[in-house]
Amino acid sequence: CGFVAIVGRPNVGKSTLLNHILGQKLSITSRKPQTTRHQVLGIKTEGPVQAIYVDTPGMHEEEPRAINRYMNKAATSALKDVDVAVFVVDQMAWTTADEMVLEKLSSLKCPVILAVNKVDRIENREALLPHLDMLSRKREFAEIIPLSALKGMNLEPLESAVNRFLPESVHFYP
Ligand code: GDP
Repeated sequence: CGFVAIVGRPNVGKSTLLNHILGQKLSITSRKPQTTRHQVLGIKTEGPVQAIYVDTPGMHEEEPRAINRYMNKAATSALKDVDVAVFVVDQMAWTTADEMVLEKLSSLKCPVILAVNKVDRIENREALLPHLDMLSRKREFAEIIPLSALKGMNLEPLESAVNRFLPESVHFYP
């Protein structure tokens, strides 16, 4: 498969990141599959954990029923069966809600990429390094990538990181 989950507590910038990634505005609050090449399969909220499931192109085009089946599965099951998860956090603001999301991720078998979003808001960039260091000790992340979804800063490393964990025939980003 080629499924990506974007996970994080509310307000960290998941929708903004997704909109940027997909290159156009999507009304992701709609549960309908989108007509873009990447499809938003479902959105799940579980306490502080919000997950957006994205289907990557190329795998299921001839199998709309399989998509539907997967959509239901992805949106109703916990974070299983995804190839790679992007855990989004809000720059230096680490809260108990993030801690709870992290706990939820602990059962996950797939690689987790940590996206440290909203770095455009950090005035003292030097303070970011020790913070990233602290985050790196929370669990084993495939990669830790500071970025700004709003300003479109440093999104390429995230693209490469995500693609690294998807099957070769599938590319999350065109
Ligand atoms: P979600 O609840 O995780 O999907 O978060 P949203 O994407 O709705 O973003 C929450 C708020 O954070 C919105 O006001 C966004 O404009 C803002 N936001 C998202 N990404 C960034 C960023 O990189 N920098 C800044 N400064 N604000 C951002």
